[in-house]
Amino acid sequence: MQPRTRRVVRAVPLDIQPQPGASEALVIFGRSYWALHGLSAAGIVQWVTYVKALTPPMTGQAHHVAGLGVRATASGYRCSSCQGDLVLTARVVLESALAGEPVRCRGCSPRFLAKVRELAAAASDVSSGTVVADPLRVKLEQRYPLQFTPDAPIPLAGVRQELLVLGMLRRGSPLRDRLPAAADSWHRPVAPQDLTPLWLAIAQLGGLLRVHPASRIEAFARPADDASTERSGHHEADPMLVEHYVPFGRDAADGAERLERHLTTRLLTARLDIDGGRAMEFRSAVAELLGHECLDFARRRLPASLPPHLALRVLDAIGPVLRSRTLGHAFAVIWRAVPAMIDHVDDNANWYDDVDERVFTTRWWEAGMVRLENAAAVAERSPGGITPFTDLRGDAMSATTQALGDLLDVDPFELGVPAEQPEQAVPES
Ligand SMILES: [Zn+2]
Repeated sequence: MQPRTRRVVRAVPLDIQPQPGASEALVIFGRSYWALHGLSAAGIVQWVTYVKALTPPMTGQAHHVAGLGVRATASGYRCSSCQGDLVLTARVVLESALAGEPVRCRGCSPRFLAKVRELAAAASDVSSGTVVADPLRVKLEQRYPLQFTPDAPIPLAGVRQELLVLGMLRRGSPLRDRLPAAADSWHRPVAPQDLTPLWLAIAQLGGLLRVHPASRIEAFARPADDASTERSGHHEADPMLVEHYVPFGRDAADGAERLERHLTTRLLTARLDIDGGRAMEFRSAVAELLGHECLDFARRRLPASLPPHLALRVLDAIGPVLRSRTLGHAFAVIWRAVPAMIDHVDDNANWYDDVDERVFTTRWWEAGMVRLENAAAVAERSPGGITPFTDLRGDAMSATTQALGDLLDVDPFELGVPAEQPEQAVPES
C-alpha cells in the first residue's frame, strides 16, 4: 500500500464582497460568518467564531443568511462544475476544497440559491414592516441602545482593564465592531480564565466598552421568578457571554481605532509614571497577568486537572521565575512537572487507558509540584539552567498577553515582570 502523503495546504485568502442591496446587519453577519483565522499546522481551517456563537440578524441557516449578505470567493480554487472562481456557499465547502475534493460554486448550487432567494423575500418583508420583530430583541435594544459619543472623552481606567481591552482590540477578534469575550467564540481566550470576568466587568462598568444589543439572547439573564423585571424587560448582561462595542467614535470600527490609540499611549506612559503610582500598578498587573497565563498553561498541560489548592503553589513557584527570567522560562518550568507525575504513576496503571483523576492523588501531585519548584529554583539561579519555551505548539496564549508583547515590542515568550524601581534612583548627571 502506498503511504498516505499529506497534501501541502496553502493559506487561503477569502475575498468577501457585500451583496448589492444587502442591509448592513446582513453584511456584518456575512463577514463574521466567513472571518478566517487561517489554517492550523495540520491544515485544518480555523474560524474566528463558531457558527453556533453567531447570532444571525434573521431566521434561517447561518450559511444562507451569510450568503444573502456577502459573496465569499476562495482565491486560487476553482468550481469543479463550471471551472470558474470558487464562490463559496458554506464553510464546509471550503474545508472540502482544501482537502482536494471537487466542490461547486454558488452559481452552480441551485438549492443554495433558492434558499437565499427565500430569505431575500422574507428580509424585504421585515424591512417593509409586515413581520413583527422579536419582542425580546426590541426590549434589549431599548435597554442597550447602540449609541456613539465621538466627542466625549474616553474615561480613564486601571491598568488591568486597559490591558484587557487592548488585548481584545488587537488580538481578540479581527471584527472590531463586535468584541466577544468568551473563549467559546474562538480558542484563544481574551485573558487568563481567573482574571477575565472581573477585569472585563470593571472595563464595562467604567465605560470603556458597552454591551452590544445584538449579542446572542442567552447572554442576557432574566430573573425568572420576578414578575416586575419580566414586565420591565430588565435583563442582566453576562460580561463573558455578550459582545461589546466601543462607543467613542463615529461608529464601532472608528471607536475601536480611537480607543486602541488612547490605550497604547496610556499604557506606554504608565510604565514611567512612578510618582503617580501607575508604574507600580503596571508592574503588579503584569505580574498577575503572566502568573495566570502560566496557571492556565499548567491547567491545560499537566496530566490531570489541577486541584484549586495547588494553583496558589504554582503561582508562588513561578513568581520569582517571572521576575528574574521570562514567560518562556516559566512555561518550561511547569512542563518539567509532567514527566515527574507520569513517572510516579503506578506501573500497574496503563497510562493511556487507566490514568484518570483518581490515579493522581496527593502523592503524584506532590512529585509534580516538587519537580516544578526545583526547576523554578534552577531557572532562578542560573540564566542557562532551563531552556525557555519559544513555542506552545498549537496552544494559544491569551490575547491580552500577546497584546502586552506587541505594546512592549517583545516576543511574548520574552515577557517578564518589570524590575521594581531602585529605591534610590541615580540622578541623571
Ligand atoms: Zn460553478
